[in-house]
Amino acid sequence: MQCVCRNPGRRGDGFRGAFTLVELLVVIAIIAVLIGLLLPAVQAARAAARRTKCASNLRQIGLGILSFADAHRGRWPDSTHTSEADPDTGGFTRAWIYTVAPFMEGVDEVRICPDDPLLSDRLRLKLTSYALNGWLTKEPEMRGDGPGFDNLRKITETTRSIIAFELSEKRGDSVFGDHVHSFMWFRDANKQAGTVYDMIDLEVALKRHYGEMAPYLYADGHVETIAAGTIRQWASPPWQTPEFSKPR
Ligand SMILES: [Zn+2]
Ligand SMILES: [Zn+2]
Repeated sequence: MQCVCRNPGRRGDGFRGAFTLVELLVVIAIIAVLIGLLLPAVQAARAAARRTKCASNLRQIGLGILSFADAHRGRWPDSTHTSEADPDTGGFTRAWIYTVAPFMEGVDEVRICPDDPLLSDRLRLKLTSYALNGWLTKEPEMRGDGPGFDNLRKITETTRSIIAFELSEKRGDSVFGDHVHSFMWFRDANKQAGTVYDMIDLEVALKRHYGEMAPYLYADGHVETIAAGTIRQWASPPWQTPEFSKPR
């Protein structure tokens, strides 16, 4: 009895209070299991935080775009189709993000999505992860898709009209993209061929964020985070009228 009280360790005086190798391995195994359980939760929380940051970027950019339009009788900033390439960088310094830069604070803090695979290229070339809705450019008229919405005043339902998307990295030239060709997505030929969703997927980062979602900027300045599955529904029969990507 006396011995047990003085030496609670099993091996006697020399090992009093020490772990055996087996005990140490058990402790390590328990810690490993705990890390294994916690890691996915930590990663999910960080991915959700990046999704929130991206939506917040788009919201601030929206304020810049709307301030620009306000100061220019409703006109949207020009897209790269109406700008010149910068001879030094090959980038488009007059892409709309820099046209609206004077109307916002810290454009460099918000012009890139934290999950953008082209992050470093877009940072360097002074481009953005976000794309103007092609319906806001002169392009649909030029391509024979009907009159566009090249002025804020042509949009009556601002709360239901998307003005900017998150740009996909899938198109070959997408690092230079600053608008999406939304006016072409719902053409009859694409509907008949069943390729509407694929067309959208090529230009918009539908699944970039945690939960397979992406943020969408509306003409009243609010941002909605929409699941790719919802977009797929809107891009499949029976066709939504009007199509979700067309301002109204
Ligand atoms: Zn993003
Ligand atoms: Zn274009």
